[in-house]
Amino acid sequence: MNSPSSTRRGFLALVGSAGPVIWLASLPRSAQAAPLPHLTVAASPTAAALKYTEDASKAGAPHKPGQDCSNCQHYQGKAGQAYGPCALFPGFDVNAKGWCAGYGAKA
Ligand code: SF4
Repeated sequence: MNSPSSTRRGFLALVGSAGPVIWLASLPRSAQAAPLPHLTVAASPTAAALKYTEDASKAGAPHKPGQDCSNCQHYQGKAGQAYGPCALFPGFDVNAKGWCAGYGAKA
């Protein structure tokens, strides 16, 4: 059977080892993931090739009404965010109301 002091030491060791994890989890969201630069066709030849636009309402064919980044399977931003990451453009955030020819409807 453990003595009260050895149980306390075990608890303190456990808390001590979890300290960095607790500290990271308590950081504000902005300190954990800095926003990425916004995707532009000037910054990315792939974006140009896929006809990326910040405004899906101005996209040409093969764009279809209702398609935008926020409902694309490659979009990784959270609902309500103006910009978020896209699996096709690592290192950039795309406009939730944008669109490109890599669009694929969410399942
Ligand atoms: S792949 Fe989807 S989320 Fe990414 S830029 Fe194109 S339409 Fe937007």
